[in-house]
Amino acid sequence: MLEMYMKTAIAEALKGEAEGGSTIGAVLIQRGAIVGRGHNRVNQTGNPTTHAEMEAIRDAGVLEDYTDTELYTTMMPCRMCAGAIIHFGIRTVVIGNSQVVNRTVEYMREAGVEVFELHDPECIRIRAEGHQRHPERYLPTAGIGVRDK
Ligand SMILES: [Zn+2]
Repeated sequence: MLEMYMKTAIAEALKGEAEGGSTIGAVLIQRGAIVGRGHNRVNQTGNPTTHAEMEAIRDAGVLEDYTDTELYTTMMPCRMCAGAIIHFGIRTVVIGNSQVVNRTVEYMREAGVEVFELHDPECIRIRAEGHQRHPERYLPTAGIGVRDK
């Protein structure tokens, strides 16, 4: 199951690149079912808050309870997305690629979120290759203080 969820997040990330964006995807799971999915759309929309995690949360709509949800994301959440995860009370976050400048793992854990880092080779590869092909797509998505080198 875990692998299937991350594969879906990776498929979202690749959809993002095909649309002219960066390769970051996420899915929201509730009681074993995918209830929301999304990819970073900052370049496509010009909306700086359309990160993959925010899109997956938005796609799920308003849920009565988030304590039985899990978020799978190909990249470590930024501080905005980590804040949303904490705000909604998402119980578990599974991260594919942890290679970012600003880690949010401790921030989420301190708020009671269960965090798993997979160091998934596929998530690392799609991010590296996407960045290599289109480096210009990544700066506006990163936000101040969290730019990747
Ligand atoms: Zn974010």
